[in-house]
Amino acid sequence: MDTTSDAQFLDIALQQAQEAASAGEVPVGAVVVKDGQVIAMGRNSPIGSHDPTAHAEINALRAAAKKLGNYRLDGCDLYVTLEPCAMCAGAILHSRIRRVVYAAPEPKTGAAGSVLNLFESSLNHQTQVISAIKLGADPARSTAQSSQLMQDFFAKKRLEQHQEHARNHPLRQDALRTHEYCFENLPGYDFAPNYISDLPALDGLRMHYLDEGNKDSSTTYLCLHGNPAWSYLYRKMIPIFAASGARVIAPDMIGFGKSDKPKKDSFHSFSWHRQCLLEFIERMDLQNVILVVQDWGGILSLTLPMHAPQRYKGLVVMNTTLACGDAPLTDGFKAWREMCAKKPEFDIAKLFSRGNPQMSEAECAAYMTPFPDAGHRAATRAFPPMVPEFESSDGAEISRKAREFWRNVWKGQSLMAIGMQDPVLGEAAMRELRSNIKNCPEPILLPQAGHFVQEHGEEIAKAATRLFS
Ligand SMILES: [Zn+2]
Repeated sequence: MDTTSDAQFLDIALQQAQEAASAGEVPVGAVVVKDGQVIAMGRNSPIGSHDPTAHAEINALRAAAKKLGNYRLDGCDLYVTLEPCAMCAGAILHSRIRRVVYAAPEPKTGAAGSVLNLFESSLNHQTQVISAIKLGADPARSTAQSSQLMQDFFAKKRLEQHQEHARNHPLRQDALRTHEYCFENLPGYDFAPNYISDLPALDGLRMHYLDEGNKDSSTTYLCLHGNPAWSYLYRKMIPIFAASGARVIAPDMIGFGKSDKPKKDSFHSFSWHRQCLLEFIERMDLQNVILVVQDWGGILSLTLPMHAPQRYKGLVVMNTTLACGDAPLTDGFKAWREMCAKKPEFDIAKLFSRGNPQMSEAECAAYMTPFPDAGHRAATRAFPPMVPEFESSDGAEISRKAREFWRNVWKGQSLMAIGMQDPVLGEAAMRELRSNIKNCPEPILLPQAGHFVQEHGEEIAKAATRLFS
């Protein structure tokens, strides 16, 4: 087979892929060739035909077998725009295709070398598989074309989803919304967005949350971030929680991440944010919750379980506190609060890179993504002075009640982890908190971790899944 005809057959497969895209299917196309002639074509059609097996290759193989009146396709070649999956690779081997040429690699599901290689297994006796990129300039063009087709298809799909979300959740006049495209391609954050805006407290503000893992699981890890972070903070822990078979939910508090951002600093208060979280948990009807908290995630959320103790079975607590207003705030916290007041638009990426030399520049920058300008930063300005300082401060009384709850009523299991490099809520604050949590075992100490402990969270997540499964 000369490479000119390879390129021609790949072009026909690409046309099939385009037709699939026009029909709203993932754009993959395939052709079967015998004796230099196209004898069958196929395009991806699982959605339209209600058939999970209706991949382009399967459709093309079926058409070819029908044409030849033989389930064995001896002497036939298959050209496909995307590296075959395991199912299609199996079908190709069964049909005794002589040679497979694919255009674009498929890093997530490819069974011709990307994820696994069925063609190099002992299942294969006759089929040769080759990437078009290795066949010279003409066939190699199809690799770029097919990749582009896939990218365009998914970009269009994302855009449609974003438009639908915007339609379903119109933006309030007193709030801002960071554009969705700002959040594209953040390292390690390949999670689908979910939104809610019809909780009474939200009154139309759009709150974003991640909902990963097994949605039918009876156990839910509820991961709550603090200031100035967002659900990005949990990107390393979420996959580990999810792999344990549990559901994992990580909201962005209003003012942070992908959630709407009220324009006024004065919009934010302890009681209002607490109310949002209470309503969110009720609406989602979360059961067997393992509360995962750090920083404001704890300051607010440690006051939640006493409201509905039957919903909670575990606690994973990292550098945070209960701000009860009856003990002086630490010097470390006061210094942080002063810095925030002096430099209200301080560089968030730098804050992360300082304490986390292991993080890439892109990871640090991802923490800055929700805040394209000062207008979006009401929450990061409002939160530091919101920590209850006096007995009468908003949130102080409920935090004292929560302290009684954790001391005397809490029946769940707890896991404490401390980032030892944290000057604000480090070991001293956490030892104090531990003395107020019934049956809280010795903490895991992370000598390298700073305030944002989750950046070293894999070890903690693994310990949690051992404890709670
Ligand atoms: Zn397939």
